Amino acid sequence: MPKLSQRITGLNGGGSDGWDVFYRARAMVEAGEDVVELTIGEHDIRTDPAILNAMYDSAVGGHTGYASVPGVGALRDEIAARITAQSGVPTERKNVMVTPGGQAALFSAHMAVCGSGDPAAFIDPYYATYPGVVRSVGAIPRPVPTRSRFGFLPQKDALQTACRGAASLMINTPNNPTGAVYPKATLEEIAAVVEAEDMWLISDEVYDTQVWEGTHLSPRALPGMQDRTLVVGSMSKSHAMTGSRIGWIVGPEDAITALIDLATNTTYGVPGYIQDAALFALRAGAEIEDRVAAPFLRRRNMARQILQDQTIVRSIPAQGAMYVMLDVRETGLSGEAFANALLDSHRIAVMPGESFGQSAEGHIRVAMTVADDRFETALRTICTFAAGLAKAA
Ligand code: PMP
Repeated sequence: MPKLSQRITGLNGGGSDGWDVFYRARAMVEAGEDVVELTIGEHDIRTDPAILNAMYDSAVGGHTGYASVPGVGALRDEIAARITAQSGVPTERKNVMVTPGGQAALFSAHMAVCGSGDPAAFIDPYYATYPGVVRSVGAIPRPVPTRSRFGFLPQKDALQTACRGAASLMINTPNNPTGAVYPKATLEEIAAVVEAEDMWLISDEVYDTQVWEGTHLSPRALPGMQDRTLVVGSMSKSHAMTGSRIGWIVGPEDAITALIDLATNTTYGVPGYIQDAALFALRAGAEIEDRVAAPFLRRRNMARQILQDQTIVRSIPAQGAMYVMLDVRETGLSGEAFANALLDSHRIAVMPGESFGQSAEGHIRVAMTVADDRFETALRTICTFAAGLAKAA
């Protein structure tokens, strides 16, 4: 076989990426073992049947040919109206492109603003694909370190250092994996750095309907940011449509026009029946979204109760999204060693913090994606297990 490109073989940056625990858990499940999987961000409910009916009706009605590459007009309008209502920033069809999920939107956004060899910054801990996205466009990952004791919010000095000379900064609020919802002051600091460096802000807002504390603010709404922000949205988390692959990018018209050229040469758009289902779901209003979000709020409140008296395991306040981040450093183990030991001894699978960057060393991320009683038992077991380890240490 001839050589593969360096760009693709170097995508994962080498070394352990912390996903071993996930794959080991999956293998155990396939072998018939009972494993509580608290790893990836997949709901324990499926897409609402009403959305599936809309998908079916559209497909049977003939919307199975090539669909409009930037997205069908009515859906782009609906997304624009949603963003206008949420953020207060007047947004029109020309500011919106529909994408096959948020992931493709993250890739396309970086493609649009990063040249080969440009540094591209993002906050650490980060969603696991971020460094790979940056490398896939030939840019250089520049993680911005944060501290557990500051709730993993980026601090000005670290931002300034990482952003110097960078083409873009990617942020994610509500945050995966930390559960942080960025306050206005943090977003204003971010905006100031991005403006001073004359760079782009890529704002990953795929968890914007899952806010348990505080308010979701889109940085695009801050003064001067509309012309330098690309917002990434998705219906994966808000409508339990992970498998439908539907999301969007919102930004300045010229950027969207360029992104449409990219889509014409890559994805060639999103299936029409998926877009029609998405349109139906958005028009249905908050009812479906609230139903999808409710179990996570419930479990997050359960988790808060269980974790409040813990002295060994310490929790980072889960203000949004589907995860609780736990500091397990008192056990003396790394996040990876802790997760492996937990899987072996209790058949509970969580993600090691290390899979989300160096700032999350010694932490684990627990997805709240199993039924309440199972979740509660698993979380209590994690606490007891950690306490036992700390005693033995
Ligand atoms: N951003 C974040 C922070 C995520 O957690 C995810 C999915 N887990 C995505 C983007 C991508 O989601 P999708 O492609 O399903 O829209």
